[in-house]
Amino acid sequence: MIKPHKLTFFIDFDGTITKQDVGETLIKFFGNVEEINKIIQLWAEHKITSSESWQMFIDIMQDYNKQLIDDIIDKIDIDPFFLEFLELTKKYNSPVIVLSDGWDYYIHKIFEKFKITIPFYSNHVEFDSYQKLKITFPHRDDECNLCGNCKRNHLLYNSSDYEDEFTIYIGDGLSDKCPATFVDYIFAKGQLLKFLEKHRISYYPFSNFNDIISIVNNLISKKRLKKRHQAILNRKKFYLEG
Ligand SMILES: [Mg+2]
Ligand SMILES: [Zn+2]
Repeated sequence: MIKPHKLTFFIDFDGTITKQDVGETLIKFFGNVEEINKIIQLWAEHKITSSESWQMFIDIMQDYNKQLIDDIIDKIDIDPFFLEFLELTKKYNSPVIVLSDGWDYYIHKIFEKFKITIPFYSNHVEFDSYQKLKITFPHRDDECNLCGNCKRNHLLYNSSDYEDEFTIYIGDGLSDKCPATFVDYIFAKGQLLKFLEKHRISYYPFSNFNDIISIVNNLISKKRLKKRHQAILNRKKFYLEG
């Protein structure tokens, strides 16, 4: 029997696993749209880092409390085929790691609701003793403007360059630009798709996890998979420069 390829999946959370961006939903519910758009603009133009923008977003949130926030999180739905996708990764013994620039606070709740037990890395959010949101960035990289929780670093520390191992990234947003050029296969939609198009980086477009399931089945059945040459170079460069 041919040994199946080892595929390791790295997946964005907001707007990829969930149908809508949870962080954005919360900020827009409790914050002023004009102020929010200003902050988004500053971040998109690389004038502020992701962690700075998160702090600013939380600072402009008003009249919230834990109950109101929990009620909004409770209404968030996930991709209708995500659980089926997880079954598939179990069948193929493929590790799945979620890389999020959102908050562990809502990821925990949503994973619990849908009985999902995969590992994830994110920013840390909790309520302080005054019932105010407090955000910290345990995985920040000073060199990276794109993520408060540097996705590329987690990706590199959780994958190897063995010949029969392949890395796959699935995402939809601007912070996914950070890890995407370090993997062999990319599934993209939204802003990430636009970025990859612009830079002529190959990817599979997807609208939901059903699309991903069929392409992954197809990849697994192939005798040989190809590593992405540019990803190998990017990874080498990172290891050398640290
Ligand atoms: Mg996203
Ligand atoms: Zn990063």
